[in-house]
Amino acid sequence: MARSVMLSKLCSSYGAFLAASSSLGSRISFSSSYKVLFLYTWYLWPTELCGESSQFFFVAFPFLFLVKDMQSMLQQESSGDWDSLGFGLVETDFMYFMRSSSDGTFSKGELLPFGPIQLNPSSAVLNYGQGLFEGLKAYRKEDGSILLFRPEENALRMIAGAERICMPAPTVEQFLDAVKQTVLANKRWIPPAGKGSLYIRPLLVGSGPVLSLVPASEYIFLIYVAPVGNYFKEGLAPINLIVEEGYHRATPGGTGGIKTIGNYASVLKAQKIAKEKGYSDVLYLDSVHKKYLEEVSSCNVFVVKGNAISTPATKGTILPGITRKSIIDVATSKGYQVEERLVSVEELLEADEVFCTGTAVVVSPVGSITYLGKRMEYGNNGVGVVSQELYSSLTSLQMGLVPDNMGWTMQLQ
Ligand SMILES: *Cc1c(COP(=O)(O)O)cnc(C)c1O
Repeated sequence: MARSVMLSKLCSSYGAFLAASSSLGSRISFSSSYKVLFLYTWYLWPTELCGESSQFFFVAFPFLFLVKDMQSMLQQESSGDWDSLGFGLVETDFMYFMRSSSDGTFSKGELLPFGPIQLNPSSAVLNYGQGLFEGLKAYRKEDGSILLFRPEENALRMIAGAERICMPAPTVEQFLDAVKQTVLANKRWIPPAGKGSLYIRPLLVGSGPVLSLVPASEYIFLIYVAPVGNYFKEGLAPINLIVEEGYHRATPGGTGGIKTIGNYASVLKAQKIAKEKGYSDVLYLDSVHKKYLEEVSSCNVFVVKGNAISTPATKGTILPGITRKSIIDVATSKGYQVEERLVSVEELLEADEVFCTGTAVVVSPVGSITYLGKRMEYGNNGVGVVSQELYSSLTSLQMGLVPDNMGWTMQLQ
């Protein structure tokens, strides 16, 4: 009797552990799986029934799983899968999670297993779009160390955005600490040098319930990460843009200058129409004069003419990109004359090169722009020399291939 109870207890416990570990798959962490096994083995040890010699099997059994766990982790680290990485979401192990009351007192953040979060159906973010996102990358260097690129700029941009839509934001220090913790917890997902990077996505949303239009009483700051490949596998690939005449991304006095979630659903339709016609994306004009360049759906734009590189000034309708800001400094240091000003759509006719900038693409050369049915081409079906030069300079700095004279990279471990 005692024996069958003990055996069924053993079987069901190990069964439950097996089910849990296989459903969690690679997510169950090395140390927690070890702890669970150790506890079960110790708690259920049937020495009085099985005798001393049986101990070997009960120790060997959990260790088999430990070895299996280790093997799959090692394979993950070195698998050829890194070569097929695109820009889709690959789920990773942990996300960072922190709550705040409306006065900006953030709780101590914690790392949780990546997965769904609970939200009140009447939360401000679901009902009124009170939310911001950020985007940055971590690169692995050849020597295994990890580099972040200007993460404090993302923290400052989140603070500025939060002010605009009445949310409290984490301090620069809290933001940086959270980014570091999340990257280190998901370290095994950072592609090897040259194979891509870990895309980091911080979110700040109004989670408290509202019914009338008011700021939420509670906020969630969270960060998740996903490994991404180099945006263009075969080096730089020129994109084809169409100038949008009907739809606008932003208006003066609006929220175009902050990374609020509401700015993005509104560009999906213009982008969809453009893609159906074979274009890569949409280039927006200012909504007042319908004459000056603003930006692409999620990238800033630059126009090259001789030694001059011009980009629309950020006056509230254009997102102040960190790549934009960095390219301005890199180009200036290389002797280009960089101008932040109103750039008329007419200037596209005269331009030598056009390129876009953003964290995902870094620098994306533009092969053609179509405006009022007229197609203008750049780079002679290839990549313009200035676009190529700036792309190479900035990516080698971000990846730690050249000394960082700008002081832009932050090394983790
Ligand atoms: C994020 C974003 C950019 C690029 O900003 P980076 O900091 O360079 O990544 C440009 N335009 C829009 C609309 C964006 O959302």
